[in-house]
Amino acid sequence: MDIEREFLFRWYERQLLVEGVTRSFLLRLSEETFGGLSGKMEEMVAELLIRSGLSGITRDFPRQRILPFYSPLIYRQKETMEFRDGDEIRISEDDGKKIVSFPHTLPIIFSPVIAGIVFFWFMNEVSSTTSVKGLPVNPEKISRKGRVMVVGAGGLGSPLIKTLLDNGIDDICIIEPGKVKLNNLHRQILYDYGDVGLSKASVLERKLSTYYGGVRAKVYEREFDPVSIKSERPDIVVSCVDNFETRYLINDACYRNGIPFVDSGVEGSSGYVMLRDRSTPCYRCFMGDNRIDTEASRGILAFTTYFGGLLEAALVTSYLNNRNYEGKIFWFDLKKHRFEEITVERREDCPVCSLAKR
Ligand SMILES: [Zn+2]
Repeated sequence: MDIEREFLFRWYERQLLVEGVTRSFLLRLSEETFGGLSGKMEEMVAELLIRSGLSGITRDFPRQRILPFYSPLIYRQKETMEFRDGDEIRISEDDGKKIVSFPHTLPIIFSPVIAGIVFFWFMNEVSSTTSVKGLPVNPEKISRKGRVMVVGAGGLGSPLIKTLLDNGIDDICIIEPGKVKLNNLHRQILYDYGDVGLSKASVLERKLSTYYGGVRAKVYEREFDPVSIKSERPDIVVSCVDNFETRYLINDACYRNGIPFVDSGVEGSSGYVMLRDRSTPCYRCFMGDNRIDTEASRGILAFTTYFGGLLEAALVTSYLNNRNYEGKIFWFDLKKHRFEEITVERREDCPVCSLAKR
């Protein structure tokens, strides 16, 4: 194995602890290289695949605009993968080159779905042709302004924050106590190699003021405290955390203060997204009262957290634009290409929302 491949293997081995991602699979991925990319969808699909294990992009990649979000990459000249426009998502081989076609009119929310299909196609687990129906709303432009509190700026929070800011949110409050770690980079797209070791809050402050100068943004380097719901007075709270303890805290504080909140949880290639308010059964009705955090052993693929974050952004914009929300929980598995809506009933003995309702 040459030094470049050895380096890539070590790099991804540290980050992709996902079941089924083997050494030989990673080495197969690391030989792939994208050619010229046209448009935001192709760039995003390529970025998610690169962060999920593909190593190469050619020199005509529009590097300068998105470089701050990238991990260390190897540049190659010869392309082995090419994107084309097509009626459906299809992967084929042509003269030794992989051709990925998809309708370029699709909204950006499909980019993690396409990246997932390509990724698992490499693992030979799904068919190479997939229809693209059945996804929920796209994160749209925000017409009715509001103050959004985001708890957690990691795998889910990174794409969520970026999407909300791109779509017109101009008043945001972010709570994040952690530091940027090397094994965060593959899925936390707001951070780059040079940010490792710094507090996420300080990196976010710098990047938000650089790229989104007109936005009123507060970034707090601390854990979530229920009191902050009262002091910050958000219109909606978004939970982008990775532990049950904080989810319970957010759920209880939001119900008691009558503030709606959006939550997502992801693992491997699957996850859920939901919006809760006083009219819906709460997080405890969905998960019970006794979930305990265990040591994280499974990894999370970049496109899974990205999809979870984009779906959360879609619910936030939909809420702020004053659309109806039926209270269902959206569940997805990008490996099996399944998207379902789950209905949850209110628990009679729920210590939080059965009281709040009365
Ligand atoms: Zn409840």
